[in-house]
Amino acid sequence: MTLQKENIEKLRALLAEGPRRIVIVSHTNPDGDAIGSSLAWAEMLEAEGHSVTCIVPNRYPYFLNWMPRIREVVIFKDRPEEATRAVAEAELLFCLDFNALSRLEILSDTIAANTSAHRILVDHHLAPAEDFEIAFSHPEASSTCFLVYALVEALYGTDRITRTMAELLYVGIMTDTGNFAYAGLTPELFRAVALLVERGISIPDIHNNVYNAYTAGRARLFGYAINRKMELLHKGRVACISLKEEELRRFYFQQGDSEGFVNYPLTIKKVKMSAMFLEHNDFIRISLRSRGAVDVNLFARTYFDGGGHKNAAGGKSFLSMEQTLARYAEAVEEFAAAGHLG
Ligand code: 5GP
Ligand code: MN
Repeated sequence: MTLQKENIEKLRALLAEGPRRIVIVSHTNPDGDAIGSSLAWAEMLEAEGHSVTCIVPNRYPYFLNWMPRIREVVIFKDRPEEATRAVAEAELLFCLDFNALSRLEILSDTIAANTSAHRILVDHHLAPAEDFEIAFSHPEASSTCFLVYALVEALYGTDRITRTMAELLYVGIMTDTGNFAYAGLTPELFRAVALLVERGISIPDIHNNVYNAYTAGRARLFGYAINRKMELLHKGRVACISLKEEELRRFYFQQGDSEGFVNYPLTIKKVKMSAMFLEHNDFIRISLRSRGAVDVNLFARTYFDGGGHKNAAGGKSFLSMEQTLARYAEAVEEFAAAGHLG
């Protein structure tokens, strides 16, 4: 990962001016990469004497509860006053693992209100929407945790990586690469992982903590989703799963329970693109996944006001579930007619 020298030096200068009040913020529905990168970066900055608050808009999934330092994350939805105060007082604002303030949803206005803080982006999504004073925008990076690793290496050297930082960084690297199965697996990434292992992390323990920590309700919901709610479109080459609130309730749904569902249809040889539609209070959250050349970032941007990465993206729909599924079916045909499904 080559980070721009000029950016590194600008950031070094900002951090060299004595102890700073710093806020690290990450995206709505924070995942392992959002939380891991935020807390690892916080640990580094605190070791340098800065005071740091990590903020996310809403709750993280329960299978991340075991992560070191996770109780320090301020959830805006639960503690709005504390988060708002920290943001207002921040001299430096690090935006990790997202590329547009709109991705902060309920937290967007609070962040936008602090116009005087230095804003620094550290992200691996395509095409940042706003200007940042310093932007480490690297879509080629497989995770933001890997970017934070590179940032620590460039600014302070890898000797400064503690065991706690190593654990935190490994969570994001593991989850965002689909446990080392997606694109962007460079020799450099494995060298970074080797160093994390040298710091004493246990890969089997982290794997177990993240992937084998679900409830029985989640296992049953998964069976139901695949057996009863998976549909195949476009000659079996496109899949979708939809789950309404009433169905989620029936299986005691907790945030995080649907993690991984959208990937499962891609285990079918013919399926090149998969979508999951999850009903929330007032809208439907859409997750999209694809294989190879099929670009779901383009699909999400074109049809569902979303974005993300080429093979993993998301969006939203404010229509009913039935209307949303009809729109998806139409969009798939249009997308295929334009040659985007290969
Ligand atoms: P997930 O399906 O895991 O929620 O999201 C997959 C990827 O798409 C993530 O990288 C996430 O940041 C991105 N993403 C999800 N929802 C949205 C959205 O509404 N807008 C944009 N721009 N990106 C999204
Ligand atoms: Mn990420």
